[in-house]
Amino acid sequence: MREVEYRSHGVPLEDYELTRRDHRRQKESEEIRLAAQRMADEDFAKCQADPAMAEHRRQTFEEVAKLISSFERHDHEIMRWRARLYCGHIVETQAHYSHSDPIAAGAYTKRCPECEVEDLTIVAYEPIGLLGERPEPPQPPPSQLRKRPTRAELEQRVAALEEENKRLRAKPSP
Ligand SMILES: [Zn+2]
Repeated sequence: MREVEYRSHGVPLEDYELTRRDHRRQKESEEIRLAAQRMADEDFAKCQADPAMAEHRRQTFEEVAKLISSFERHDHEIMRWRARLYCGHIVETQAHYSHSDPIAAGAYTKRCPECEVEDLTIVAYEPIGLLGERPEPPQPPPSQLRKRPTRAELEQRVAALEEENKRLRAKPSP
């Protein structure tokens, strides 16, 4: 696994003060949520008017759900983060270890478990650590442990192959 440098932003989280940018981001995320809701409503109305489209949609959702559940989740690939939400509460969130911060991982908004508001933007964060220990790397099979051949050994091997080639070419064809 490659090493990732995990970033903090706005620490200590307890003392973080909202910036103008935070207010703007929160407003944008609310607008996006409303637009998505409007699109979903329109889509739902279309599906109700067209049973074939509704069936196709249902199958697609089922396939996606199967695909998602087929991904194995390893604890050592999950990074835990403390995140301060727009409302001021501090929550724990998780992201794939390959991302340097939870926003880069796509965890842009969250529902606050304290004040139960949806779509609160993450305004500050700090890494906690991986959810699980990294397993020991598997031992390479014995064949890979053999030392690489020396140049002399390779030259010998090439010479032997050339000899073999010559012998085969010298054979009368049937
Ligand atoms: Zn809250």
